[in-house]
Amino acid sequence: MDVEQAIEYIKKYDVKFIRFQFVDILGYPKNVAYPVKAGEKGIKELIDIFEHGLWFDGSSITGFVGIEESDMLLKPDLSTLSVLPWRPEQKSVARVICDVYKSDTKPFEGDPRSRLKAILNELKEEMNGEFFVGPEPEFFLLKRDPHNPHKWVPADSGNYFDVEPLDEAPDIRRDIVLALENLGFHVEASHHEVAPGQHEVDFKFDNALKTADSVVTFKMTIKNIAKKHGLKATFMPKPFFGINGSGMHCHQSVWLNGEPSFYDPEGPYNGLSEMCLSYIAGLLHHAKALVAITNPTVNSYKRLVPGYEAPVNIAWANQNRSAIIRVPAARGKATRVEFRAPDPACNPYLAFACMLAAGLDGVKKKMTAPEPIEKNIYKMSEEEKKQLGIESVPGSLSAALDELENDEVLQKALGKHIYENYMEIKRAECDAFRVAVTDWELNQYLDY
Ligand code: GLN
Ligand code: MG
Ligand code: MG
Ligand code: MG
Repeated sequence: MDVEQAIEYIKKYDVKFIRFQFVDILGYPKNVAYPVKAGEKGIKELIDIFEHGLWFDGSSITGFVGIEESDMLLKPDLSTLSVLPWRPEQKSVARVICDVYKSDTKPFEGDPRSRLKAILNELKEEMNGEFFVGPEPEFFLLKRDPHNPHKWVPADSGNYFDVEPLDEAPDIRRDIVLALENLGFHVEASHHEVAPGQHEVDFKFDNALKTADSVVTFKMTIKNIAKKHGLKATFMPKPFFGINGSGMHCHQSVWLNGEPSFYDPEGPYNGLSEMCLSYIAGLLHHAKALVAITNPTVNSYKRLVPGYEAPVNIAWANQNRSAIIRVPAARGKATRVEFRAPDPACNPYLAFACMLAAGLDGVKKKMTAPEPIEKNIYKMSEEEKKQLGIESVPGSLSAALDELENDEVLQKALGKHIYENYMEIKRAECDAFRVAVTDWELNQYLDY
């Protein structure tokens, strides 16, 4: 969309408010709403903002800047302009996703979207490459506990692929899918997930920037539609002990010169290219540090435990879901690597930037992938795993941050500003958790 088309769109859909949207360092959406003014003068003002951006105060945004340098510019990416389907149809509300700038020409180094763009530009310039991601975000729909209004519990007791009446959410998923389609999503499937109250809606893969924008929009949409139905949607990685958590598996591939680079009909494992195997090796090599970004909360590490279809072991496989990387059976253009660690609490811009950096490091250094592990690793003894050289992901956010502190490749991908601010915020989060006294401790130790 160019400026002229954007103005047409605004008129056609009776847009009264435009939300200029971006994310903070944690991937949390932020916005400021601009009211469209009537008449020629109003349109002129809007054209000026579309062309030059909207100034705002960046000092109160998590991980951005101090108050002494707080003026920042939101430069809209007009291709993302879209009416928000959960807001009124008349005098409607549209949002446009923005890049954050320090001045007219200088992108802000703390802006996650600009960071991903820079990494994707490098891939374009160095290898004429493109990075595609297809995420599978899972989430829970929760209702208030009838016995305790302060508590949220799963909204139904359905299981994988269940139908009504066990699945109590078909109407909500229907509304979610219709809203996503209005926002331009190509939805591939939606279904009840394994845990009670848990669901998945899959949308088509696209280039990493578009997909990261989509993940943010997806989460906003689902939370808003759930709220309209009196429920809460949560993307928290492990809301309940004893049942599956929510992952965001990321299917990914790199294309070079407009061609898929992970497929080679002559290659091993039914046609994986050397590049694909090196990319896998890179992801495995950096996995321990990578999870500090793809699994960013204290709670994330309660999902990464054996027995709940979430990966624990740093290995790859063709079918085995206990490994951190799986290569789905499809070949040709659809050849891709599924990295199963990420959860939907991650900042998708940073997660995608770091996954790509990890994989490409393997490619650049010509790393070789180990043999795939097709046996259920959850069931292997420690001895057996040791023999096969299978390590585990870090057991806590704090341990993952220690790994990130030693990973220069991922630090470089994040850039100095984001890396340093991220570390500071996440270390503080670990400390806050460390001193908190939990119900588990009270149950365990009260009679000591
Ligand atoms: N919920 C699982 C996870 O945490 C995935 C389950 C599935 O998609 N079959 O990764
Ligand atoms: Mg799925
Ligand atoms: Mg799933
Ligand atoms: Mg999957």
